Amino acid sequence: AVVTRFAPSPTGYLHIGGARTALFNWLYARRFGGRMLLRIEDTDRERSTQGAIDAILDGMSWLGLDWDGEVVYQFARAERHREIAESLLASGHAYRCYASAEELQEMRERARAEGRPSRYDGRWRDRDPSEAPAGVKPVIRLRAPLEGETVVEDAVQGRVTWANKDLDDLVLLRSDGTPTYMLAVVVDDHDMGVTQIIRGDDHLTNAARQSQIYRALGWDVPGMAHIPLIHGADGAKLSKRHGALGVDAYRDLGYLPAALRNYLVRLGWSHGDQEVFTTEEMTAAFDLGAIGRSPARFDFAKLENLNGLYIRGASDADLVAAIEAIVPSVGASRGLALPLDSALREKLVAAMPGLKERAKTLVELLDSAAYLYAARPLALDEKAATLLGDEARARLAAILPALEAVTPWDAAGTEAAVRAFAEANGLKLGQVAQPLRAALTGRATSPPVFDVLAVLGREESLARLRDQAT
Ligand code: GLU
Repeated sequence: AVVTRFAPSPTGYLHIGGARTALFNWLYARRFGGRMLLRIEDTDRERSTQGAIDAILDGMSWLGLDWDGEVVYQFARAERHREIAESLLASGHAYRCYASAEELQEMRERARAEGRPSRYDGRWRDRDPSEAPAGVKPVIRLRAPLEGETVVEDAVQGRVTWANKDLDDLVLLRSDGTPTYMLAVVVDDHDMGVTQIIRGDDHLTNAARQSQIYRALGWDVPGMAHIPLIHGADGAKLSKRHGALGVDAYRDLGYLPAALRNYLVRLGWSHGDQEVFTTEEMTAAFDLGAIGRSPARFDFAKLENLNGLYIRGASDADLVAAIEAIVPSVGASRGLALPLDSALREKLVAAMPGLKERAKTLVELLDSAAYLYAARPLALDEKAATLLGDEARARLAAILPALEAVTPWDAAGTEAAVRAFAEANGLKLGQVAQPLRAALTGRATSPPVFDVLAVLGREESLARLRDQAT
């Protein structure tokens, strides 16, 4: 059975590249009825934080990328890693190296002077441990093959080969007894039964190193798929400026998880020219062979457009729930906090059909609904203030009795009253509707004004009009 894993290092937020890696692993596992495991690679004790672990787990949950079984914490497995390093010593596939920091430094300097990549020269490979200097704690190194090639058959990169003479004897266990990343990954992937590794192509050279460890242990090498990293729209490596934000930032900017998932699946993977995928569709179609070899470009405009599409396709109740989910992070500056007042909640649901057509993010949606939660008397924006000159304010006063008489209070009823008023006074509809809109919303643009009247309700609408009428 297929087993994939996502193995983030908890040293920062779950960034967009990591989220895509997680998604690909998730899709691949689901495509083949397998399992996706989650391993937190927290062996770097200085840089790993609980906050980062929480951000990764939250980000994955928010994106709907559930993992199978318990989360595996790599640091907790250090004893097992040590055991494997010792077994490699015992089988002769590894050896103790007593080279001092000064000696290693010398090797590096010599390499630099000769203009070649630095590598450990194997000086303890065949030396008798009885020659070990007193008081030096050794590292354990892999006795890597000196001749021939190491080959990685990669589902994305194809067949990649390294001359073994270019790969030195890597450290498996440090002198303080802690495992290196290279050893820990191999042991964990093996013990977790991982059959397919999918990760960024910045790990491609590691794959060669890891293959050597697998072979030394007599273990099967899992399938490998190294996916090109994500670049910015300008082709440069992705930076914050390009959208290399944490997944939580996308949530707070008002992206829907389904839209982000859809966007991410197309970053590097394609299925004909299809752009929009339901989760079922992407699961059914996902395939490592269709991942491109050149870096995908992050395109904010495309993400926004997809998000707008998902917003328009979402139910009104779901949208309001999604808005509520971001209120804790974006509500304060808008005077909103949870729980939302139930009357406001109902108004939001009622206003959604008119609002969701134009919004590309939930934040835009929330802002376009500001008239629903604005406190009286409404602050007018500049254009609304201009619309509400003396004449317009007098017109509001004049129309109040007609609106007060409307029953039942709905869009059709208020529209009929406003039209009749305009006609009776020789005014164009806009000459009445514009001041109404300005007084009701504080803005010069809004959904159709009769919908606004209906959603706000009789009492609130009339109160807002009285606030501005003279
Ligand atoms: N922990 C590594 C990282 O976050 C990934 C290791 C792997 O996928 O093998 O880059």
